[in-house]
This record gives sequence, C-alpha cells and structure tokens, in this order.
Amino acid sequence: MAVTKIENARYIVTMDAQRRIIRDGALLIEGDRIARVGKTEALAGAPADRVINASGKVVTPGLVNGHIHLSYAHAMRGLFPEDTPPEVYFPSVFKIQAAMTEEEEYLTSLLAMTELVKSGTTTILDPGSTKFMEAGLAACGEAGCRLITGIHVTDRENPSRIPAYDAREAARIATDAIDRHHGAHGGRVHVWAMPFSDDWASDELLVALKRAVDERNSRMTYHHINASVSIERTLREYGKRPTLHLEDIGLLGPNVLLAHVIDLDEAEIDAMARTGTAAVVCPAASLKLAQGTIHQSKLPELLAKGVPVSVGTDSANNGNLLETQHAMRVTSLVYKDARGDTSLLPASQTLEMGTIMGARALGMDAEVGSLESGKKADLVLYDTERAEWSALVNPVTALVYNADGRSVDTVMVDGVTLVENGKPNFVDERALTAKLEAVSEGLLARTSFAPRIPWPID
Ligand SMILES: [Zn+2]
Repeated sequence: MAVTKIENARYIVTMDAQRRIIRDGALLIEGDRIARVGKTEALAGAPADRVINASGKVVTPGLVNGHIHLSYAHAMRGLFPEDTPPEVYFPSVFKIQAAMTEEEEYLTSLLAMTELVKSGTTTILDPGSTKFMEAGLAACGEAGCRLITGIHVTDRENPSRIPAYDAREAARIATDAIDRHHGAHGGRVHVWAMPFSDDWASDELLVALKRAVDERNSRMTYHHINASVSIERTLREYGKRPTLHLEDIGLLGPNVLLAHVIDLDEAEIDAMARTGTAAVVCPAASLKLAQGTIHQSKLPELLAKGVPVSVGTDSANNGNLLETQHAMRVTSLVYKDARGDTSLLPASQTLEMGTIMGARALGMDAEVGSLESGKKADLVLYDTERAEWSALVNPVTALVYNADGRSVDTVMVDGVTLVENGKPNFVDERALTAKLEAVSEGLLARTSFAPRIPWPID
C-alpha cells in the first residue's frame, strides 16, 4: 500500500471532534485513508514512499458542496440578465438543457467539477438535474472527486417544464439510477433519490421514493424553498405549512436533505430537528434570485436547534461562482447585517458547514469532513505565502474571510492528487474551456437564445 507523508504544514486545521489545529503538522496517508495526524516531529520516524513538504501551507479537509447543478449551467452562465423573471428564466434554462447532447453534458459536467475541485471542493452533491447521467459519471471518473448524484423526477406539470411522468414511472427512473450506479468509481459515487421538489411531486411519488431509499439504506434530497406560494398551497390543501405536511407523510428523517429552506417557521424547524432532517443553503444564489435570505431565512435558528446544515453554491447560472469557500463567506456575512448581530454565523461555524457539518448533513461524516485517523484522505493544501493570506494570525478567519480558491495548491481525494501547484492534473483546462465556448455557441444557435449585454460590443 502506497504511503504518503505531508509534513511541515504551517497549520493542519483538522475539524476533528476537538477541532484541533496543529502547528507544524504532519499527516500520514496509507492508500486512500489517513493513518496518523500529528506534529511533524512526532511523525518524523514514519517511513513513506512519497513526502510532500507543506512548509508555508495550511491543510484542511476537502470542502463539501451540498447543492450544485453540474450538468448544464456552464453553457449558459451569464446568458440571462439578473432581472429575468423566474417564469421566463427557469423554463429557458431547462429548454437549453433539453437541447444538449451527451457529449456536451459530459463537457459541462467536467468543467463544473474542474472549477470545484481546483478551488478545494472534494465532495459534490448534484441534485439530479442530469439529462445523461452516464455523462456526469464519466466526468466524475476523470475528475476523481466524490459525487452524490441521481436523476431528478417530477410527476406534476411544472413551470420549469421539467418532464412529468406518472408517479410509478418517476419512482422507477429514480430507483433504477440508484440500483445501477450507486458505488461506482470505487465507491466515490453515491446515488440518491432526487424528486425535483415537493411542490412538483405528488405525495404518492414522495412516499414511494422515501420507501425506496429506506429499503436501500440510501438517502434523498429535494428543493424545499418554502416560498410563499408553497406555503399558501399546503395551508389550503392540508391546513398546515409544507414542512409539517412532509412530516405527516413520513418525508422527513435522518436520510433526508432539504435544499434552500428559506422561509421556515419555528414549528417547521422543530419538525426538522426532532426527525433528524438535514438542510443545505445556497446563500449567493438565493441573494441573486431575491428569494428572501436576508429577510426570511432562519439559518441561525436551524443551527441552534442542532440541524446539520451544509453550504452549496447552486448552479453556474444561479450562484455563478462555484467556490464552496465563497458560500461559507457569504453565509458568515449576511446574517450579521440582516439581524444586526455580529455574533451570528462566526467563521468557525461556516467552516464547519463547509467541512464536517456539511459531511454530516450528507450522511458522510464517518468517511470525510475532517482530518483524522481512519478517514478518507480528502484534503486541501493552501499556499499561505500570498498577499491575501498575510499576515496569518488566525487560520479559521483567514480561510473564511480572506482566502479563496486562488490559493489552493494541492487537492487530494482518496489519497490521489488531483490538483498540484494550483493546476488540475486530470484535465487540460485550456482545451476544455475552448470546447465549452464552442458548446455554448452551438447551443445558443440551436435554441435561438442570445445574451443581453448592457453595453455595445464593437
Ligand atoms: Zn437547485
């Protein structure tokens, strides 16, 4: 078994149970797992096949991104102006996706993974918005990241015009994907059930999928924005708010991850807490889409009740920048100002959301999210000998408030190096972006969409 030693790290931010930060740290990797973490001095006698000198580097667990649509958005990033109304925007997005070929989806997925991995994200959850699932899996094979995916399904006509099947067929499509692909790429791929949203799925479909994941020891995620239109609907139909109706039909639980959760009331938060339900928030996308994060989001209350919450970026046309660290930073910033309380969402808490708590929200904290003996060797080395890192007196605030993906030097998943000297080694990034330009041009020509740029271009 190949043994790698990382030594002389300026700090190792372990995110273990004690949240130890080790100055002059070292880490021993045997095969795909971490064998030891400690001081460089303490590991001096440990032999290794390969030694990485991490002098001037901060080492962290690989970041966890709990909500990012990988497969289509890069071809239309920036195409639709910010003020495009949702009833135009979302159907247009899915119309473009419907026109994509399998090769195009492979390229957009690989580009998304490249952007994420090179900025330090190693575990990626795509909420199933894939047209050719095999294309995304092939891209994951290349990129070497950890991927949670599935096929999003609906059985209700919906404004985004995502194809609606009858409930049985939709459940079959989603569970077939789990049965066929869960555990692919040496276990790096997890497949979950992913109904698009509880607004666009019947109770029959939701219940069938929950039963299917319970039987398979799998998990599920769905969009649960809890916008006013959804709240009005369930109040009208069931006399209660959406999250409480979900609890009634058995759709909450420790294997359920609710995405966005913008407008929750106290009873809904209590329902999530008592059922062990997890959440993921995508602050940059929510802010850009004016979904009410500042005015309505109850993230501080969710966290106070012990609900595990992950951060996500959402897609390259919603959140645009696919840096999990950016999502951590925005999350730490907005609640302080919105509530006039600087004690909310400290950097230590959003760093947890991007690592160990995010892993817990995805049910993966036994394997990833912290640097400790027995865990998968998924980690990031940041180069701190850069202007934005200096002076480094507090690695926790530096990671959230002043560092970003530009300083990522090395990324490993399963002990395999994917990024070295800031460059992904699994792809020719320039060649890939050149292909994406052609993909985008072709798609726009085929679908007759054109960007609306505010100023004349000569
Ligand atoms: Zn989404």
